[in-house]
Amino acid sequence: MRNVVLFGPPGAGKGTQSEILLQRYGLIHLSTGDIFRANIKGQTELGQQAKAFMDKGELVPDSLTISMLESEVAKHPQANGFIFDGFPRTSAQADALDAFLQGKGNAITCMLALEVNEDELIKRLLNRASTSGRADDADESIVRNRIAVYNRETAPVADYYRSQNKYRGVQGVGSVEEITTRLCAELDAFIEA
Ligand code: ADP
Repeated sequence: MRNVVLFGPPGAGKGTQSEILLQRYGLIHLSTGDIFRANIKGQTELGQQAKAFMDKGELVPDSLTISMLESEVAKHPQANGFIFDGFPRTSAQADALDAFLQGKGNAITCMLALEVNEDELIKRLLNRASTSGRADDADESIVRNRIAVYNRETAPVADYYRSQNKYRGVQGVGSVEEITTRLCAELDAFIEA
C-alpha cells in the first residue's frame, strides 16, 4: 500500500495536485476539509460541530477529526493506498494516523510538502473565494488566521516525518504540470526505494 501525505499551507494546491496524483497512482483521495464540507452540506451532527471551527479558520478538534478520518479509511478496504490531503494537521493527528495504519500492517510512504510563500497564498485564497464559494476564503482576516494556525500547529508536523526520513519539500509555485512533475519525481523515488 502507498500512503501519501500531501502537505502544505492553505492555498498551496493540495486539492489540485491530489486529483492528478490519485489518477496516476490509483489512490483514494481523502481531503478532511472536503469531508467536513460535505457533512455541513448534509447537515450532519459532525458537520454542525465542525462548522463553528471552520468558519473562524480554526482547526476542528483532534478527537472529531481523527475518528472521522478512520471511518473514511475503513470505507475503502480494497484501496491500493490513500492520498491524505489536509490530514494530519497536528502532531496528535500524526501519532494517531501512524498507530491506525500500523494496526492494519501499513505505514505512511512519504510526506510531500508544497512550499508557497505567504503573499502568494493570500492572493490565491482570496481569488479562489469567487469560485469556491467558501466563506473561509472570502475574508482576509480569516485567511490570515488559517495561515497563522498552519504555522503554529501544522507546520511542526513536518518534523514528525522528517525524523522518519519520509519528508520531501517541493516548490509549489509554477504551472500545475510543473508542480505535478516535481511531486511525481519525489514520490517515484520513494516507491522505487
Ligand atoms: P485549506 O487547506 O485551504 O485550509 P481545507 O479544506 O483543507 O482547506 O480545510 C478547511 C478547514 O477545515 C480548516 O481550516 C479546518 O477548520 C478544517 N480542517 C480540515 N482538515 C482538518 C484537520 N485535519 N484537523 C482539523 N481541522 C481540519
